[in-house]
Amino acid sequence: VKKRILLLAGGQSGEHEVSLMSARSVLAALPPDQFDVTPVVISKEGRWLPPTQTQHALEQGVAPSGGDLVLHRAASAEGYDAVFPILHGPMGEDGTVQGLLTLAGIPFVGSGVLGSAVSMDKVMTKQVLASAGIAQVAWRLAVRREWTDRPEAVRASADALGYPLFVKPANLGSSVGISKVHGPDELDTALTLAFSLDRRVILEAMTTHRPREVEVGILGNDAPIASPVGELRFGAEFYDYETKYTEGRATMHIPAPLPEGVAARVRELALRAFRALDCAGLARVDFFYVEETGEVLLNEVNTMPGFTTTSMYPKLFEAAGLSYSALVARLVELALERR
Ligand code: ADP
Ligand code: MG
Ligand code: MG
Repeated sequence: VKKRILLLAGGQSGEHEVSLMSARSVLAALPPDQFDVTPVVISKEGRWLPPTQTQHALEQGVAPSGGDLVLHRAASAEGYDAVFPILHGPMGEDGTVQGLLTLAGIPFVGSGVLGSAVSMDKVMTKQVLASAGIAQVAWRLAVRREWTDRPEAVRASADALGYPLFVKPANLGSSVGISKVHGPDELDTALTLAFSLDRRVILEAMTTHRPREVEVGILGNDAPIASPVGELRFGAEFYDYETKYTEGRATMHIPAPLPEGVAARVRELALRAFRALDCAGLARVDFFYVEETGEVLLNEVNTMPGFTTTSMYPKLFEAAGLSYSALVARLVELALERR
């Protein structure tokens, strides 16, 4: 008997377009003899689009305005076996949609409210992982109110970290709103940008040397498995939006050419982080490997990583022998198992 799947895509975050790309891949990969898939695109205004407009949005890569209100759609989603919320960033990957689906009693792919919310927020993630004994760069939190009322205090905490440093909205992805700040003269612009996107901003020390960027896929619920380790290489100063989404700007190396022991450590740390954050289903755990010092620092955990057929997460499991469509089917299984 075919499983009925509601595929949610688009959404209200800065990663709306990225989500539509992932959704097109997933739609093409779910075997029609096993799955009956209904895609619903959520517009940037948070409206859930009816089928014809959803089709149009998927084809055009942009959602028109209008459409149903969220709760109405959720209520009518009762007939689905599972929901695949391929949504990145706030209002999708952060526990909000997961809460809605939990209330509606519908199984869904990926982490629940807790794992999604904590992993979305880079500060909360760092706090939880620090208490799990996982090494990370030094960091500071700043909230918008501090920036407007006491900017000198925020500047002082940046100075304490030293330059260059990174300024990031705490709850975003795809490098949206992230700046590498080379000195105090670039700080205000970076903070203004980050605070225009989030109430919470994280300031992060840079690794001692330019790091190598390695990533691991985790798959499973309470007995998760780790994929081989992959590496990203690029010419840009850091892995910014352009580099991520412009064809040919970055290359993926699977497995990452790492010294003996480092890959095993990375995979072990990724599994430990997945458990500490109460993740479920899938996550891509990203690290900095500082070759000069041998340090492995956890950078972030993505509970709904990029999911096109050429994205890192599916490629990592493909290297482990799991095809894209088998991976998608496994994720649906894991969603049903968690019920
Ligand atoms: P996102 O969730 O948007 O992917 P990241 O925290 O992964 O945000 O940052 C994006 C990129 O910025 C990283 O892949 C890396 O290239 C660079 N970067 C971020 N933080 C640091 C840091 N502390 N030291 C060195 N590079 C960093
Ligand atoms: Mg991220
Ligand atoms: Mg990242």
